[in-house]
Amino acid sequence: MADMFRFADDLGPLKIIHVQDVGIGLKAVLVIDNVAAGPSIGGLRMASDVTVEECFRLARAMTLKNAAAGLRHGGGKSVIVGDPGMPKPDKERLIRAMAAALRGEDMYIFGPDMGTNEECMAWVHDEIGRAIGLPRELGGIPLDELGATGFGLAQAAEVAADFDGFDLKGARVAVQGFGSVGIHAARFLRERGCVLVAASDSKGAVFDAVGLDMEALATLKATGGSVIDGGATTGEREAVITADCDILIPAARPDVIHEDNVDDVKARLILQGANIPATADAERRLSERGITNLPDFIANAGGVICAAMEYAGANQTTAFDTIKDKIRDNTLAVLEAAKADGVALREVAVRLATERVRAAMSMRRWGSF
Ligand code: NAD
Repeated sequence: MADMFRFADDLGPLKIIHVQDVGIGLKAVLVIDNVAAGPSIGGLRMASDVTVEECFRLARAMTLKNAAAGLRHGGGKSVIVGDPGMPKPDKERLIRAMAAALRGEDMYIFGPDMGTNEECMAWVHDEIGRAIGLPRELGGIPLDELGATGFGLAQAAEVAADFDGFDLKGARVAVQGFGSVGIHAARFLRERGCVLVAASDSKGAVFDAVGLDMEALATLKATGGSVIDGGATTGEREAVITADCDILIPAARPDVIHEDNVDDVKARLILQGANIPATADAERRLSERGITNLPDFIANAGGVICAAMEYAGANQTTAFDTIKDKIRDNTLAVLEAAKADGVALREVAVRLATERVRAAMSMRRWGSF
């Protein structure tokens, strides 16, 4: 019995729901972590190796991210066990069945995540009418196409560079994971004069101290290629983490900055595009080394802010103005508080977010999540 509640603390989770349909091979989980601020928003992830624990950790990350961004939404997450590259009719059947099974769970709003996209959200919308990150044709704001998260990361970079007293013009950027988040972050930073000197994807990494042709790399990725087909100096994909650069953007997998490479990180500013890209120990070490390491749920909130604005019926311009305001305000708030209190940025960010969640909870009938 005790094990059933191994994730429980005073913030949540409110519900963990297992969904199974043996007939079509559906195995899935929904975690609704906390709904004190409103219905939870969080992505539907499809991957072969997802676990209940991963789903819970991601749901909690959404509780903190949505609270930090001051959204009228709590945090939740759902996962389907399966290869996201499976034939489309099979994928559609699983996602429609998952949505239909959760029709009554109206405190969870589906969004896209790794292994799902706007079309998947259109299937969910068609089944139960409760999804964000929809295609433009259904009134959505295509956040990955527009680069909402990359836009937010560039806003955070401007504030952090200003705070730390360095110029973005000429700053050298390394991106791990040249996908939706990584490409758009590099693009928005180039508009501010930064130079892309390293980029990686699942196949490997490319480096050029003078500057990579990022549009050529983006075109390669859009046509199914890899950054390593770009003709520059290639190397191990992990080498991007320790590349000679000023700004490092991990935008792929969790825990890529760890005890074995943290002391070789050369960047002065880390913008966490991916969720949980550094281990807790590595984060402590980055802080000791004086590296400005902006936490994921502060820096990469552009996507969910855009999604929440779409849900509220806002247009693209308002959504991007909101991303700009919220991410700039939050970045400055955590930088100032961390400096004043002499503690790590994540500690301050978690405090800020949990204070907001608890304040929302205190206004509930039972003071609960
Ligand atoms: P994506 O699938 O568009 O891009 C991921 C990229 O990472 C791909 O180019 C892939 O080849 C590369 N990659 C995979 N494994 C790698 C590895 N081990 N080393 C180097 N590169 C690797 O995904 P995305 O939407 O850009 O999301 C990236 C990360 O950011 C995810 O962790 C996601 O949860 C997080 N995130 C995304 C958003 C968003 O708006 N899309 C918002 C917040 C957080």
